[in-house]
Amino acid sequence: MSGKYDLVIAGGGISGASLLYTTAKFTDIDSIALIEKESQLGAINSHRTNNSQTLHFGDIETNYTLEKAEEVKEGAELLAGYLENHDPDREMHSKRSKMVLAVGDDEVPKLESRYHDEGFGDLFPKLRPIERDEIADIEPKVVEGRDPNKDLLALQTPDGYVVDYGQTANSFAEQAREEASVDVYTDTKVTDITPTLDGHTIATDAGRFDADATVVTAGSHSLKIAKELGYGEDMSLLPVAGSFFLADDLLNGKVYTLQMKKLPFAAVHGDADVHDDSITRFGPTAKVVPGLERGRLSSVPDFFDVFGFSPEAFLSYANIMADRILLPFVLRNLLYDLPAIGRKQFLPHVQKVVPSVELEDIERAKGYGGVRPQIVDTENKTLDMGEAKIVGDDIIFNITPSPGASTCLKNAMRDTHTLLESLEGDYEFDEAAFREATIGHFPRVDDDDNSVAVDAVDTAAADD
Ligand SMILES: Cc1cc2nc3c(=O)[nH]c(=O)nc-3n(C[C@H](O)[C@H](O)[C@H](O)COP(=O)(O)OP(=O)(O)OC[C@H]3O[C@@H](n4cnc5c(N)ncnc54)[C@H](O)[C@@H]3O)c2cc1C
Repeated sequence: MSGKYDLVIAGGGISGASLLYTTAKFTDIDSIALIEKESQLGAINSHRTNNSQTLHFGDIETNYTLEKAEEVKEGAELLAGYLENHDPDREMHSKRSKMVLAVGDDEVPKLESRYHDEGFGDLFPKLRPIERDEIADIEPKVVEGRDPNKDLLALQTPDGYVVDYGQTANSFAEQAREEASVDVYTDTKVTDITPTLDGHTIATDAGRFDADATVVTAGSHSLKIAKELGYGEDMSLLPVAGSFFLADDLLNGKVYTLQMKKLPFAAVHGDADVHDDSITRFGPTAKVVPGLERGRLSSVPDFFDVFGFSPEAFLSYANIMADRILLPFVLRNLLYDLPAIGRKQFLPHVQKVVPSVELEDIERAKGYGGVRPQIVDTENKTLDMGEAKIVGDDIIFNITPSPGASTCLKNAMRDTHTLLESLEGDYEFDEAAFREATIGHFPRVDDDDNSVAVDAVDTAAADD
């Protein structure tokens, strides 16, 4: 197996597949290859069991600033529009209610202020404040057994897209494969990338490829590959695994709780499953692990390669872990995976969402959960939340913790512009057609009567 391509994409999760779709369908690049080491696309962090399946708009994520929400929103609308356009039978997504819940005198005013004063109500026209009775109508279990004297407020929206990102990655590839210019290689691991005079040579365990332009979308492995090429010297990774607990169908949609200030990871939330109405999932936990892929010992040495063993790396880790809020949080999260006590330790988080839940109602989801490659800035010795992109000579590296799946198409759109510049203007990107096929199908609030021009929230789910 070998070949010469204008563009090679290394890594076939949702990021690589969305770039394949964008470049294959909406540019005139002559030849594009996607190389993936697993037998299927979307099998690692993008797999449906390994993430929370949320399409993050920034409306109910109280760990986002308004600025971040503005940034993420367009990305989410691009993907939501793609799903509306290509998945009418809801085989790779479902649409549910979604809300963030505030409880009591401390939380309720904060959520009110976020909606009315901080701009979130204006940014998200479909978001609306609802009180106890309406919360109970939509999510009875959230109210059942809760202290009647405590105020409740939720911000609720019908834009609760629940997404099987693995299946969506395969849908992107299917669309792209309609073009003659595309080859997809699975079971093919990139082992080395070397610069050449006019691009890169990509060595794999199944043969050699040459590319004018290369994009590395290898998730946690992107930084390892970047470092081997001399990029990303001021970065390291803090791999943070997320586990989930499962219960019966306690919720009809997504219920987030208010974020604890200064904590970089999202508060535990309850989510209905994309394909199975009978399951509610709680999580994710945040356990620091020395490996790049969940449950794979072979990825432990890869982590140490990325870690780098430099004094800056050690000092950065020490500085991050010395944080008075983060350290106890990290230590507590180590407990949740322990068989004897994990469930009991985690129960209070679930009860914050569903007060009446009991120990025997939840169990740890075996084999679920991925690893978030959180970026450590070794120059400033800080933990950076969100994604990172390194742009080199004819090569781009994407490192994609959450919300990397939600923003995959926006990221692909950006990379496509960068690629066309590096391919020296020989090709064009029909961004208008790209937008028409994606965000063009995103349902908007109808300006005339201010009603929401979207399908009703899945009634089967809401009636549960
Ligand atoms: C617990 C948890 C919850 C999350 N929840 C959400 C959520 O609700 N919403 C959201 O938007 N995001 C969420 N995320 C983040 C989201 O899962 C990731 O941002 C997204 O899946 C990243 O996609 P990717 O394609 O960049 O990486 P991946 O899906 O990890 O894909 C990378 C691919 O590269 C391949 N690869 C690696 N090395 C090589 C190599 N050498 N050669 C060839 N192929 C290679 C891998 O096999 C893999 O298929 C969550 C993550 C975790 C861990």
